[in-house]
Amino acid sequence: MIVRITLEIALGKEFDYEVPSEFEERIALGSRVKVPFGTRQLMGVVTALPATSSFPVLKPIIDVVGQGSLVTPKVLDLARWMAAYYCCPIEIALKSVLPVAVRRDREGWKKQLHIRAVEPTGQVPALTERQAALRSILQQWKELPLQEFLKLTRSTAATAKKLEDAGVALICREVMERDPHAHEHILPSEPLALNQEQARAHAAILAAMNQKEVQQKPNVFLLHGVTGSGKTEVYLQAIDHALSQGRGAIVLVPEISLTPQTVERFKARFAVGKRATLVAVLHSHLSDGERHDEWHKIREGRARIVIGARSAVFAPVDPLGLIIVDEEHEHSYKQEEAPRYHARDVAVVRAQKEGAVVVLGSATPSMETYHHAKGGKYHLLEMLSRADDKSLPWVRVMDMRGEGRHDKGIPILSQQLKEAIDQRLEKREQTMLFLNRRGYASSLQCPQCGYVAGCPQCSLSLTYHRRQQRLRCHLCGHDERAPICCPVDTCRSAEIRFAGVGTERVEDTLARLYPTASIRRMDSDTLKKKEDYKRILTEFRQGKVDILIGTQMIAKGLHFPNVTLVGIIYADLSLHIPDFRAGERTFQLITQVAGRAGRGEVEGDVYVQSFTPFHPAIQYARRHDYVGFYEQEWEFREQTSYPPALRLALVTLRGRQEAKLKLSADHLRQAIEGATQDIQGFSLAGPAPAPLERAENHYRYQILMRAQRMSRLSARLAGVMDSMRLPQGVKVSIDIDPVNLY
Ligand SMILES: [Zn+2]
Ligand SMILES: [Zn+2]
Repeated sequence: MIVRITLEIALGKEFDYEVPSEFEERIALGSRVKVPFGTRQLMGVVTALPATSSFPVLKPIIDVVGQGSLVTPKVLDLARWMAAYYCCPIEIALKSVLPVAVRRDREGWKKQLHIRAVEPTGQVPALTERQAALRSILQQWKELPLQEFLKLTRSTAATAKKLEDAGVALICREVMERDPHAHEHILPSEPLALNQEQARAHAAILAAMNQKEVQQKPNVFLLHGVTGSGKTEVYLQAIDHALSQGRGAIVLVPEISLTPQTVERFKARFAVGKRATLVAVLHSHLSDGERHDEWHKIREGRARIVIGARSAVFAPVDPLGLIIVDEEHEHSYKQEEAPRYHARDVAVVRAQKEGAVVVLGSATPSMETYHHAKGGKYHLLEMLSRADDKSLPWVRVMDMRGEGRHDKGIPILSQQLKEAIDQRLEKREQTMLFLNRRGYASSLQCPQCGYVAGCPQCSLSLTYHRRQQRLRCHLCGHDERAPICCPVDTCRSAEIRFAGVGTERVEDTLARLYPTASIRRMDSDTLKKKEDYKRILTEFRQGKVDILIGTQMIAKGLHFPNVTLVGIIYADLSLHIPDFRAGERTFQLITQVAGRAGRGEVEGDVYVQSFTPFHPAIQYARRHDYVGFYEQEWEFREQTSYPPALRLALVTLRGRQEAKLKLSADHLRQAIEGATQDIQGFSLAGPAPAPLERAENHYRYQILMRAQRMSRLSARLAGVMDSMRLPQGVKVSIDIDPVNLY
């Protein structure tokens, strides 16, 4: 038997080994093996089982880890596709497919001692009275962890050992499964009656799931449903159908919405009650051990529903019936390191390979997805009213240009928003205020000499954190004491002051305006511990908090019936990012945040403060008009040849020496131009300094490419990178379908 193996170290090659007969039974595609490599022993993954090898002499493998394989052959195939499409070596793609926790060279199970009652062979030995009593307790339990037995019977390990010696008990090591959610108590939920729009969507998805023959094009639905339209209930009933077909389902949610609230809704339907099935949850807060165990539950087919963030798209569910990508427009589905995959796009490819159906859900679909739906590549399902017939919140746009008074500058809250908060406090209703910038102020400036405190390592200004009196870089984490006067030697002015607003400053302002109100702030500065998030949200739900201020953490997924007012402090913030998607992001953000209002009995109000109140992104969001926004945005994308009109690939070069970097970038451009002549619609811009010119002490240059289709361009870029020798200290990354251009 011969195996082809990808080693864990980055070599971009595969190697053949021989399998000694004693291992043959345990070897399958995806098995982890230990092999000799030069003078070392390395771990690898079996990626093929070739009948013959072109190498005359093969070394034997040393060991096989675990029983069977942790990855399905179908997912291995997906890894190959990823490597080719996203221009990365196969071993990098495999690392995403198999999490670290299950790639270890040990098995990774936690084991503990159990004690089990056994019938003695032959004559029953003479037992003391105490021993006989212990034996009868053990017989009732049949088997239990030794520690629990000792506690229960108030006995010692020595006593237990005597039972074993007498032949009436057996002490052995058993695998103990860690369950990160063992202490939850969840009440089962029953399927809800669907309204007309939900029922139509449900029927279309089920019809696709019932199709027997393999489909030529991917079976993808865009479920465009306004906030509160009841998308989750449609997901739940579609999952139920997958289970009834004997297949499993993967639910992807953005890491940020992987809250206890979300997970509970799925568990309440499937994990408790009569037909309980295991629901595996994969998120970044799991310990390695917990992740290992969740993974095994899935691989062994015990957990057939998986909920998780981005990387859960690789969960070894088999057979797979359904993948749901909730909030499909979210940028956190894109991995910002190699392999730079987009989980939504990987989901579509995986589903097609495995004959599954994909449902992409959003109130604000990405331009790309809606474009596919309009063009007929995906099926469009619309749910444009809220599930319980509640109306969408009333959105008012505040023109902040008129709010400034010449003596005091522009206030953080407009007069109208202040009055609206007053009313809510009187009526004991709740308010959420949103600002996507943490810290106190976005920069520290000297009005005398024009000095701005910048990061020594990045081309960014430092954010002022007042509580700690620190200046921090939100990119590289650089942290220094805030100066009390201008640090420029020739100036030393004491008038140095901060500019721009962050959540900390909003909190201070509110505390001054409403001294008796209970106010909480939620951003990564206030959430230091794992439990903080849950604690603040629980306080808010219980009505102990009047005003919740937060960054994007409070923008999505949360459902609080008593929130009747939502304020967006500075809606223009996302308009100013140097990216062609700035308008799209702003529209999405306002719509998502506004969706938090009016989820209960009382209708909701939304106040959007802006310095560019007539910007289309803001105006379309005010009218809840997604299609209007899409159409005007499409015109802009078509004129400027940005996605979805054309596809993008971005090459970024990084290095400490700018001249050397620039030279490498020029060489790379020539090589790319030479290799891409026949690609349809191909064009190239750059090399030019990236919008973020310097980060963590490295200069950054970019080459931006456009093409009609991506797969051929990916292959050519991979070829160029293989043949190109870059000087030391210059690093290159390739980003296919980038979502961040800075
Ligand atoms: Zn100065
Ligand atoms: Zn920095």
